[in-house]
Formats: sequence, structure tokens, C-alpha cells
Amino acid sequence: MIPAEFEYEAPESLDEAIGLLSSRADEDPKLLAGGHSLIPLMKLRLATPGLLIDLRRVAGLHGIQRENGTWRIGAMTPHAELARSSELGIAATVAASIADPQVRNCGTIGGSLAHGDPASDLPALLLACDGSVTLQGPSGQRALGAGELFQDYLQTAVSDDEVLTEVRLPALDGWGCAYRKFNRRSEDWAVVAVTALVKRDGDRCEDVRVAISNMGSVPLRAHATEQALRGGPLNADAIDAAASQAADATDPPADLNASADYKRHLARVMSARALKEAAGLT
Ligand SMILES: Cc1cc2nc3c(=O)[nH]c(=O)nc-3n(C[C@H](O)[C@H](O)[C@H](O)COP(=O)(O)OP(=O)(O)OC[C@H]3O[C@@H](n4cnc5c(N)ncnc54)[C@H](O)[C@@H]3O)c2cc1C
Repeated sequence: MIPAEFEYEAPESLDEAIGLLSSRADEDPKLLAGGHSLIPLMKLRLATPGLLIDLRRVAGLHGIQRENGTWRIGAMTPHAELARSSELGIAATVAASIADPQVRNCGTIGGSLAHGDPASDLPALLLACDGSVTLQGPSGQRALGAGELFQDYLQTAVSDDEVLTEVRLPALDGWGCAYRKFNRRSEDWAVVAVTALVKRDGDRCEDVRVAISNMGSVPLRAHATEQALRGGPLNADAIDAAASQAADATDPPADLNASADYKRHLARVMSARALKEAAGLT
């Protein structure tokens, strides 16, 4: 399929990009990052923007820096760069699981988070890490936590006149981390994926976070599992019991890959495996 006709601009500054979003709002503009979600939608005519504003030449949107225990990642940083940056820990592991080298070289963290596909890998990572994003628009800058960013299927709190400029992830020093992604063919999107973070205090679980992809219209935290483990003993039996609640309060859609029941089963099994790995029990 060929996309509908559109205009194209490649601004060199953030102000210019934000200015174009506002001044040409009547053309239904869309920001273009790696294009690996937007262009397929345009080819299917599910998105028909009249103007593409390419962010590739905008200065200041690339790179990874550590500042006061937080990773600051520019929105235009490609998945491949995250995957190569082993110092990022779980974020590097998760990015390395995305599709194939071509997708990882083009797709960006900002594009993935702004797109808000619950089956994608990075939204649940942001949720598990209690990370945040910085949005810049005509009236200034605002920070949004992961819980506020994802609103519904492919819908995020990024306004039409805003650019997602930066992602902030806590460095998670002292946490054990694991990512389990179940797909039918390697390099596919997750049927279900689980990010598990565990902070041990001897044989006890001081803190824990579990985030699950593709179990609803947005990425979800497995709150019942977390509550069952937090503050209690950290062993295989406790994890199995807690993980049996990982699908509680979820309403996963059935799709070509799995029924809703099978996804619930996967959420429980993947949570147990990820938690055991994060707890250092495997
Ligand atoms: C074959 C294939 C397989 C894939 N497999 C996976 C997979 O296994 N796991 C996975 O997670 N993803 C997968 N993806 C998706 C891939 O990671 C995308 O690149 C990503 O979801 C979107 O990033 P992008 O930079 O390409 O964004 P784009 O496609 O350029 O943009 C996506 C949306 O976000 C908006 N946007 C982009 N950047 C910004 C910004 N800075 N501020 C505000 N809005 C912005 C755009 O306007 C658009 O609406 C796959 C894609 C393909 C084509």
C-alpha cells in the first residue's frame, strides 16, 4: 500500500518542531522518529497525516547520560544504542529483545513510548522502573510518570502540540532484574512479556515490581503479585504463590496468537520465571 499524500519538514531545533506542530495544526501533523510504527500505519491508511515533522535533525534529542542515580535518555535514541549500553542493565536487555537489527537501528525509545502499543517492550519497562518522560510544548515542559503516560490502546497523554524529549529511568542499583518475553517466532512482538525487579534484604523481599505487556489496552503492573511478595520471604514457593495472581484484574484481548485464557496462563508462568531470575534463584 502507498501512503496518502503528505508534506514533509525536517526542522533543526526543538522550538522549530514545536512551532510547526502548532502553526500547521490544520494539516494534522505527525512527528516522525524512526518511522517503524508510523509508516506502516500510513501505508495501511490507518494514519493519514498531512504533514510529517521529521525529528532526526533536531539537536539535543539523542544520547544516554547518568545523573544523580537516574539515566537520562534522549527520545531519539535508537533501540540498538540502548541494547549496546549494558550499563543500563534491564533497559539494555529489554531493548535487545525488540524485533531485528533493522527495527532496532531505526526505532527510537521516544517513538515507542509515544506510540503506546501495549504489546511493545519498552512501555512496560518504563512502568516497572517507575520511570518518567519529559514533554515539551508551546507552554513549556512537563514531566509525566509511566502510570499517567499510557491511557488506552495506542493512546498516550502526549498532546498533539508536544514533543517527548527525554526518558528518565532510575538506575536501580541493588535491584535484581529479569525480562521474560514469550513469542511464537523469535523477533516477533510479545504474546505476553514480564519485567520483574526484586530488591532483596537477605532472605526477604524488601521491594518488588512486576510489569506485564499485552495483557490489556495498556501495560500493567501485577499489583497482587507485588503485594504478596513485598516484605515477605523470598523463595521459590513464595514466588510461585505470588505469581499465581499475576493475571488478576487483567482483561487481555484474544488475538491470532493466543486466547485470553492462554495469555493469563503465560502471565503467571512468565512472572514466576522472571521473579525467580530477578531474585537470583535460578
Ligand atoms: C517489523 C517490525 C517489528 C517490530 N517488533 C517490535 C517488537 O518486537 N517490540 C517492540 O517494542 N516494537 C516493535 N516494533 C516497533 C518498533 O519498536 C517501533 O520503532 C517503535 O514502536 C516506534 O518507534 P519509532 O521511532 O519508529 O516511531 P515512529 O514510528 O516514527 O512514531 C510512532 C508514533 O510516535 C510519535 N512520536 C515519535 N516520536 C515522538 C516524540 N519524540 N514525541 C512525540 N511523539 C512522537 C509519532 O508521531 C507516531 O505517532 C516493530 C516494528 C516493526 C516494523
